[in-house]
Amino acid sequence: MEISSPLPGTEPSRDCPRCPRLVTLREACRAEQPGWWNAPVPAFGDPDAWLAIAGLAPGKHGANRTGRPFTGDHAGDLLFATLSAFGLSRGEYGARADDGVTLGGAIIVNSVKCLPPHNKPLPSEIAACRSFLEGQLAALSNVQVVIALGRIAHDAALRAAGVRLAAYRFAHGAVHRLPDGRHLVDSYHCSRYNLNTGRLTPEMFSGVFRVALAIRAQTSGPNSSTSPR
Ligand code: SF4
Repeated sequence: MEISSPLPGTEPSRDCPRCPRLVTLREACRAEQPGWWNAPVPAFGDPDAWLAIAGLAPGKHGANRTGRPFTGDHAGDLLFATLSAFGLSRGEYGARADDGVTLGGAIIVNSVKCLPPHNKPLPSEIAACRSFLEGQLAALSNVQVVIALGRIAHDAALRAAGVRLAAYRFAHGAVHRLPDGRHLVDSYHCSRYNLNTGRLTPEMFSGVFRVALAIRAQTSGPNSSTSPR
């Protein structure tokens, strides 16, 4: 399966060895499901994006299977529907990496690029993968807003920006202005658990994107806003 990154030169190798526990799981998945992606999942979207969406890590049956962030599992259903609703994607999401969907103005990156057991990366694994996230956020020179999906992504984005975590507390809907002029907008992760428990609703999630669009409109002038369809 060939999947190219919109940010070539910023991705780890397919056999990145930095996290022994995740390498062991990767090898087990390759043996169990040889047709799956089973490798670090590259960024997906527009390299000239104004909006970066920072996720946590691949899900086993989602990105780890398909090779595209949030593609093929429950979390992706809401994320891609929301991207479409706000005019940030084109094409019909089909839960497959070859469904032809493209993003315009947005890009998805993950804090941890390999599948962690039980969706829970260790602090050492988040730290090991940080240089890839840092490289990608640095390469995205047009990004004005980063939406962090969950506290781990919030912390990873802050560390990538080189700021003290204690000064920026995670809260759903919180907006943090970073020293480099970018804005970090926090959201609960659009995971199946959060949606099933009502911790996050589709309306709450849309609200986060409305905030991101409003920030962009304020910082870029009157003709820069992308409106919900
Ligand atoms: S999570 Fe990141 S650093 Fe760890 S093995 Fe995968 S690509 Fe490498």
